[in-house]
Amino acid sequence: SVFAAGALGALSEVWGELSQAAGAAERLTELLAEEPGIKAPLDPKPMPVPARGEIAFDRVSFAYPASPDRSALHELSFTIRPGETVAIVGPSGAGKTTVFSLLQRFYDVDGGAIGVDGIDLREADPQALRARMAIVPQDVTIFAASVRDNIAFGRPGASDAEIEAAARAAQAEEFILRLGRGYDTEVGERGVTLSGGQRQRIAIARAILRDAPILLLDEATSALDATSETLVQEALAGLMRARTTLVIAHRLATVLEADRILVMDDGRIVEEGTHRSLVAKGGLYAELARLQFDAGAGALEGAAE
Ligand code: ATP
Repeated sequence: SVFAAGALGALSEVWGELSQAAGAAERLTELLAEEPGIKAPLDPKPMPVPARGEIAFDRVSFAYPASPDRSALHELSFTIRPGETVAIVGPSGAGKTTVFSLLQRFYDVDGGAIGVDGIDLREADPQALRARMAIVPQDVTIFAASVRDNIAFGRPGASDAEIEAAARAAQAEEFILRLGRGYDTEVGERGVTLSGGQRQRIAIARAILRDAPILLLDEATSALDATSETLVQEALAGLMRARTTLVIAHRLATVLEADRILVMDDGRIVEEGTHRSLVAKGGLYAELARLQFDAGAGALEGAAE
């Protein structure tokens, strides 16, 4: 009938539009799956098991795609042994964050190579590589979800018992249990707002749950109150134990406890040593320490004893 033909015509029109839309969505998904510039190897080298947590930068040079004429790292070389705690300090723009971005392979190096456990990042499966690292960022993202789900983000599929053990180890359980509905309390956008110290401990709990051999820690610059500060330091000490830790350091306590400090300036390592040796040297580090760690000369001399 006329009616049926009309209906079919309309249907086929709708169908055409739908399949076009589906095609577009597919292409968009493909585009999003592709990280610009980063190619996953067709035949990735397996990461050695058990993981050691060794990091090696070998004459790494790099410029951001957005400013190809301005190199962010110049033939940067350093090795971090399994279990070592190494602090990176340096003035703004020195390249500290770039070191973290390259380690996670957000970009590929222009020259030289980066290895984790002896495997060149470009030859590793990106997912296997990222599974070896836990990141505690400076600005912690809290999702509009329960505290439990926010912690589980560190390892999707973790059991309640594992989530709660991580929260305890991160010195977070006490404040969580004081929230209206404990682990089920909604936080983030429409829920309870967490303080800076509480957010940091959620990030530490996520990293504990992840249980990766390498920890990348970007220390918060903002000051916490003394109680919160102590709790965060205790939580971090637990997390760092038996892991390779690379920390962009902003606190005196961190550099005092680091096995080694790398001092960066303008994309290079310009000094290297312990807090004590670097303060004694009286170079860039000694100057930065005075300014950045908000410690008077007396405090630093005392710390260096
Ligand atoms: P800060 O202490 O301020 O965080 P940083 O030591 O972490 O500094 P990086 O962020 O690694 O320094 O920056 C190193 C250099 O690369 C700087 O000159 C910076 O301007 C540049 N840079 C950083 N990110 C980008 C980007 N996405 N695109 C282009 N240039 C960038």
